[in-house]
Amino acid sequence: MTNIKNAIEITNIKKYFKSGSEYNKKALKGFDLNIPKGCMFGLLGPNGAGKSTLINILCGLTIKTSGNVKIWGIDIDDDHRNAKNAIGIVPQEFVTDPFFDPMELLEMHAGLYGIKKQNRKTEEILKLVGLWEQRHAYPRQLSGGMKRRLLIAKAMVHQPPILVLDEPTAGVDIELRKQLWDNIRQLNKMGTTVILTTHYLEEAQELCDYIAVIDDGDLIKTGNVKELLKNENQKTITVSLDKKFDKKHIPNYTDLISVKNNIIELSFKPTETNIGNVLTELNNSNYNIQDISTQETKLEDLFLQLTNG
Ligand code: ADP
Ligand code: MG
Repeated sequence: MTNIKNAIEITNIKKYFKSGSEYNKKALKGFDLNIPKGCMFGLLGPNGAGKSTLINILCGLTIKTSGNVKIWGIDIDDDHRNAKNAIGIVPQEFVTDPFFDPMELLEMHAGLYGIKKQNRKTEEILKLVGLWEQRHAYPRQLSGGMKRRLLIAKAMVHQPPILVLDEPTAGVDIELRKQLWDNIRQLNKMGTTVILTTHYLEEAQELCDYIAVIDDGDLIKTGNVKELLKNENQKTITVSLDKKFDKKHIPNYTDLISVKNNIIELSFKPTETNIGNVLTELNNSNYNIQDISTQETKLEDLFLQLTNG
């Protein structure tokens, strides 16, 4: 199983939920998706897109209507148990057990997975998620962020090669979010394939090397983040002029995004025009260019383009 290329291979996946007497709520409409081994993968999409449904199928929490899923090379229909063991899931909602401290909780879970004492990695995992100091703390003494990290630790107890996180930072403040990102990155560096769902595009851009965008049960786009952004046919430039801009001078094939006195922001498609043409046209309209800057394309722009806003 070590020579597999993809951590997960999904083929023609469909999930229809029952609504009334018929199975006509199509949460997943039948698409293929591969998740490369060792990557940090972001599953993006608006609310109701089907993200949770998909990962719940991967984790064995929801039964697919049809299609095939291979986890770490194992078809979930052939060997449900081993496929499931290859994944650790961090659910969106957190329920903490009031009776166990972090150390006890992880030990208990290791026991549930049948991991022998000498093979357990309790200390290592607690240190990794920054909870070693709190290993004997009462659950009620743990902050929200610590509870989330405890959930990540719990999902790692059986040392699965794949970790799935459903909206790991939803409703979490910025500082804590950055800390969680560090923890997740660290796990990925150590070789864990990480799959997370998020509706924070900044998070996906920051963390993920591959993404898939799903919308209304369909796969809209998937690929390497850098490649996707490079191929995106949209550029934005900010130009400082020597005088106030008049809208009748908008250069051909550009869209005016904003005007603030003599500073304008323009977007254009590189297949239709280029920076040279844009600046020449401004010059021809009797503006002198004082300064220009180009913005890096953000995942957000790509996302808006794909989902039509
Ligand atoms: P996301 O996680 O992307 O927000 P979900 O996967 O939770 O989306 O939901 C996808 C669609 O399937 C939504 O329209 C949702 O209402 C529907 N859905 C999810 N779970 C169920 C269920 N148990 N029964 C009926 N419909 C469901
Ligand atoms: Mg969800």
